[in-house]
Amino acid sequence: MLDRVRVVLVGTSHAGNIGGAARAMKNMGLSRLVLAGPEVVFPHPEATWRAVQAADLLDTAVVTRDLAEAVADCTLVIGTSARERRIQLPQVSPRGLGGLLARSRPDEQIALVFGREDSGLSNEELRMCHWHVHIPTSSSYSSLNLAAAVQILCYELRLACLAPDPAPAAESDWDEPFATVEGVERFYEHLEQALTEIGFLKPSAPRQLMTRLRRLFNRVRLDQMELNILRGMLTEIQKAARGGGPRT
Ligand code: SAH
Repeated sequence: MLDRVRVVLVGTSHAGNIGGAARAMKNMGLSRLVLAGPEVVFPHPEATWRAVQAADLLDTAVVTRDLAEAVADCTLVIGTSARERRIQLPQVSPRGLGGLLARSRPDEQIALVFGREDSGLSNEELRMCHWHVHIPTSSSYSSLNLAAAVQILCYELRLACLAPDPAPAAESDWDEPFATVEGVERFYEHLEQALTEIGFLKPSAPRQLMTRLRRLFNRVRLDQMELNILRGMLTEIQKAARGGGPRT
């Protein structure tokens, strides 16, 4: 399972942290290290020195231009952060990581992404992540050393592999309530109506359109606010299709 997990260090500026992260990974049975736009020259003697017997991970480390290139083939990207962010992503606890991994498909590539020592991950980089994990550190000093953060999360992944938890992970702490099944069902009815009115869905040849659209929306857990936005859009689409034109 851990072979599918890569540790991505974004914009690292201290070579020692790269070596420390490699050692932390190898101790816990992870082997795939990716350096996305490192700020420090790599390879670097200090990284090798800090890695000790994990220097082989440095030899096979992949260096990419940026995070987008580092996770291009991943379907599950988990970003880490030392602090709360304005743009909220679904949150997973460090212990919940194992559940995410356990629920992933065997062919999925997974990335665990760590930020810069001084400024962490940018909001744009966090938006590339599906989940956000914060190690519950003390509020008086929440920021861990980069390699220490790698150590803790790799340990959690190792624990999850040694003793898989059959219970589903506590998934999120989202800022809006999730849409109920009923609400989502009404949205599907509305969607079907609107798509029929604009001629995109042909009742005589519906194919698998609604099935596919349901599958699409079910892959995310829509919240009530998102559902309201989608319903509002559909209403305006219907008005425009009926010749009412857009509201000014
Ligand atoms: N001043 C930066 C701190 C970056 S610490 C900031 O406020 O974002 C460097 C990296 O270590 C972070 O980007 C994150 O990947 C990891 N890290 C540090 N503390 C963490 C914590 N409490 N939980 C999760 N990751 C943490």
